Amino acid sequence: MKKRKKKTIKKKSVLFVICLVFVLCMLFLVGYIYSIKTKDKINTEAMQYFKNTNSIKEFGKEKKEIKYSGKTASVIKYPTLKIKTLDWDIKSKATSIENEYFKKYKSKKISLGKMKYYLFLDYETYYGVDHIISVLYHASIVNQSKEIIEEKIYTYHYSLDEKKEVKDTYIFIDGYKDKFSAYLKKYYNEKENLNTNYEEKLESNIFYTYVLTENEIKICLLKKDIYGTKGIETVEISYENLNDTLIIDTAKKEKTLKVKNKKEEETFKEVNKKIYIKHKTNIYEKNDKNSKFLGTLKKGDLVEQLEEGTGQFIKIKYNDKECYVLNTVVSENPITKDGYKELNDTIILSKNAIIYETDSENSKQIAKLDKIKSVSRIGTKGEWNEIIYNESIAFIKTNAIEKKEQGKTLIKVDPNRKIDLTKPMVALTFDDGPNPSSTKRILDTLEKYNSVATFFDLASLIETYPNIAKREEKIGCEVGTHTYSHANLAYLSPSDIEKEMKKSTSVFKKVLGHDQVLVRAPYGSVNKQVRENINYPLINWDIDTLDWQSRNKDSILNEVRKIKDYDGRIILMHSIYDTTADAVEVLVPELINKGYQLVTISELAKYKGYDYLNNGTVYYSFK
Ligand code: ZN
Repeated sequence: MKKRKKKTIKKKSVLFVICLVFVLCMLFLVGYIYSIKTKDKINTEAMQYFKNTNSIKEFGKEKKEIKYSGKTASVIKYPTLKIKTLDWDIKSKATSIENEYFKKYKSKKISLGKMKYYLFLDYETYYGVDHIISVLYHASIVNQSKEIIEEKIYTYHYSLDEKKEVKDTYIFIDGYKDKFSAYLKKYYNEKENLNTNYEEKLESNIFYTYVLTENEIKICLLKKDIYGTKGIETVEISYENLNDTLIIDTAKKEKTLKVKNKKEEETFKEVNKKIYIKHKTNIYEKNDKNSKFLGTLKKGDLVEQLEEGTGQFIKIKYNDKECYVLNTVVSENPITKDGYKELNDTIILSKNAIIYETDSENSKQIAKLDKIKSVSRIGTKGEWNEIIYNESIAFIKTNAIEKKEQGKTLIKVDPNRKIDLTKPMVALTFDDGPNPSSTKRILDTLEKYNSVATFFDLASLIETYPNIAKREEKIGCEVGTHTYSHANLAYLSPSDIEKEMKKSTSVFKKVLGHDQVLVRAPYGSVNKQVRENINYPLINWDIDTLDWQSRNKDSILNEVRKIKDYDGRIILMHSIYDTTADAVEVLVPELINKGYQLVTISELAKYKGYDYLNNGTVYYSFK
C-alpha cells in the first residue's frame, strides 16, 4: 500500500517535470520567434524607408564610391564611440542610441563592449550659408558576426566653422550646393513650423526625420515610437513649394501633410535702416538672380536698406541707385571689416586715445579722449581694433587700450515664484541636453511636483530640439549654455572661446529670444584664459551624482543621500540618460519631503544675497 502510493507520487512528479520543461521550451520558442519577427520588422521597415529615399543599401568599413542617379558620391564609415576627437553632437546621438540598446537588448550575450556602431553619411549633404546638412544613415552591427541589429536614418547638421572636425565625413555632389543654399533659409523656417504644427496636431505620431533629395524634402513620420514599429509614413514637399504654406489635413482619417499652393508676388515695404553685409555678395538690378549684375559687396560693408520683401530679396541703395541683395546676407548687428577677427567684448580706452575713421593713421581723427572711456570692440587685426563709437564704427590702435572689462551680470528672477526665505533651498542642474526622451521625462517630473531646475544645454542640441528647450523655460526652469559643441574651453584659444560663445548666443536668441545668462564649462574645465574670456558667470557644482558614470538609479540616489545638508548647494546631473530620469523621479519628491525648495541657479544666487554675479568667476555653491 505504502509502496504503491510512493510510486504514484513519483510518476506524477516525473510527469509534472516533463510538462514544465515543455511549457518552458514553448515559451522560449515563442519569445525567440517574436524577437526575430520584431527585428525583421525593424529591418524591413528601415530598409523600405531607405529604399524610398533612393539611397544606398549597403555599408562597409572603408570609404567607398556609390552611384546615385548617374552621379557618384563617397560613403564613409564614421565610428562614433570611444574616439576622443569626435564631434559632440554625433557622440551624444551615439550615447542615446547606446541607451536605447541597453533597454532593448538586455541579454547579457550582447554586451556593449562587443558592439561597434557605424554611422554612414548618405549622399545627401549640402552646403548652406551657415550650415552643412547631412542625412545620416546609421546601422549598428555586432562586431564579430556582423549581424545587423538595427538600422536608422536621421539627419545631422553642423556649422561650417566645425569644418576641420568633420572634414572626412561629408560628401559632395557637384551642383547641389548652389541650388540648395538659396533654399536654406526658407527651409529652416518651414521645418520649424512643421515641427510645431505636427507635434500639436498629430499627437500619436512622431515627426522623426527629413531627407533632402534633389527635388524635394521627404519627411518621415514615425507612428508611436522611434523604432517605427507602428509604421512609417513619408511626405514629400518639393523645393519649389517651400515658399508656400504647409497645412495639416486633420479632417481626413489618414493624417497627411499637404502643401497649400499659394504662389504670391513678392511684395516690398519700406524700412529705411542701416544694415551690415555678412559676407561677399552679389548686387542685382531686380529681385531676380537672373537680372543684371551690378557689382559685389564685401563683408562688413554698411549699406542703407530701403525696403524689405516677402521673398528672398531686400532693396538697398548702392552708388545712389536702388538695387537688390539676398536677405540672407545682411545683419542689423555690426559685422567686422573684411580681414578682421571677430570679437565682442568691452574695452577701456586710455586718456588721450585717438579714434580714427578707418584703420589708417592718415584717416580722419574722429575724437581724442580727455578721459578714460569704455567701448564695445567688434574686431581686431594686427595693431588695429574696430570699435563702436557714438553708435558708428570707428578704429583705435591697440596701444590706446587701457584694459579689458569683464563686468558683472545682473541676476533676474521671476518675482511671481513664491520662495520662503526661511526654508532651505537647493539647485538641481542638468548638463548635455536637451534629449527627446530623458529630458522630457525629467521635465514631466519637475512639472508634476511644481518644481524647477537649471538646464545647461548644448546650443547645438537646442537647435535640434528647440521645442524641448522652450518647454524647459515655459515651466519655469532656467536654461544656461553648456557651449555650442561641448568644447573643452581650457584647450581653446581666446578667439575660439569667443566663437563658441557667439554661436551659442545666436542659437539662444533665435530659439529662446534672449542671450544666455549663465555658462557651465564642459567638464567644469576652466583655467585663467577661460575666466578672462568668458563674459558670463561660470557655474560649476559642489555635489556630483556621477550619473554619467554609474548610469544606475540607485547609485545616483546614493551619491546624493551621502550629503546631509543641501542648503545653497548645486547638484550636477545630466539630462541625457534615462537612468538619471529614473533617479529624478525619486529625488525630487524626496528633497521636497525633507523640506527643501528646488530653485534655479539665478534664484539660488538671488535669495542667498547676490544681486550680481561676476563674469568670468566660477561659482560652486551659494551657501
Ligand atoms: Zn557636459
